[in-house]
Amino acid sequence: MRLLAFLMVILAPALAFPRLGLHEGYTRLVFDLEAKTQYQITQTPDTLTLRLIGMTPAASDTDVGSPQVASYQVVPAAGGATVFVRLRPNVEVKTSELNDGNRRRLVVDVVSATRPPQSPPQTSSRPEPPKPRTQPKIVVIDAGHGGIDPGAVGFVVEKEVTLDMALRLRQLLQKEGIEVILTRSSDTHLSPDKATDLGLRAEMAHSKRNLFVSIHVNSASNPAQGLETYYFGHSIDPGLLAQVIRENGGGELGRRLTREAQSVGERLVRDLIAQSNLKFSRQLAHLVHGAMLQATGAVDRGVRQAPFYVIRNARIPAILVEVGFANHPEEGRRLQTSAYRQALAEALARGILRFLNGG
Ligand SMILES: [Zn+2]
Repeated sequence: MRLLAFLMVILAPALAFPRLGLHEGYTRLVFDLEAKTQYQITQTPDTLTLRLIGMTPAASDTDVGSPQVASYQVVPAAGGATVFVRLRPNVEVKTSELNDGNRRRLVVDVVSATRPPQSPPQTSSRPEPPKPRTQPKIVVIDAGHGGIDPGAVGFVVEKEVTLDMALRLRQLLQKEGIEVILTRSSDTHLSPDKATDLGLRAEMAHSKRNLFVSIHVNSASNPAQGLETYYFGHSIDPGLLAQVIRENGGGELGRRLTREAQSVGERLVRDLIAQSNLKFSRQLAHLVHGAMLQATGAVDRGVRQAPFYVIRNARIPAILVEVGFANHPEEGRRLQTSAYRQALAEALARGILRFLNGG
């Protein structure tokens, strides 16, 4: 009996991921998350896609057959899994995360849409403007570092500034109807292994998205301040070597990932798609950089190329911004203020929107 209870405890989570509840008018899927699990949710009219990073549930393919959900599939992948929930027509999806300290749950309710009663058209009501039929643009925002990796530390901690700015930027872009995917939305790393962590972030810059922006904060041993915006390039300015190695994980690992990024870059020279993508990345970099300088009056350290691992093989326009120096006595303190971070985020949003609207 005790053995059976024990077996049920260890088997139950594996048997039910997600846990399923059928209710009048809605179907509930409850995903028990691990403390470090990151997730992103995207939706098309017939499929809700949930990408989980940092946990690996067992593969499954389950017929639900409710009025709201046809089925779901759990597909494990490196470092995580993707869950596809096949939706019936005329449903709405509501998601919420519950966290009571020792348990994290993502609750997905798929609700039958209640149609408003058909009333005769009223002469006083204004006609609805035609809805654009284009797919929303999707922007990936990477808040550099996180969790065990603080990044640069000075008057501010890099991982805190990058997360705060990513959340601000997400809000600004969402207001413009842009779909935003964050590589992280809380103070976590994606993997304790830095190479895997950077690899998972880079993977999110795939061809189904429109652009990728990685946000970082600089530091320097000599007093320096100002803004830098990067797009990928395999050659390296010797003056940038220490910074690139630091952003690529630091120490021996950072040197290895820098060499790997450089060798990817050398191969890309003969890749026409990659070369044309680099031109777009450069254009995006200039738009974002110009907007940030204008908004802040910060020192212009230029738009440059460098072999940053996280943008080494992006198939979409991808840039890395260094929004200031954590250890500069003035700039570091400016970065402490929400007004300055908001100004930077608004400038980033303006640059991104100009790029998405054709420059
Ligand atoms: Zn960084």
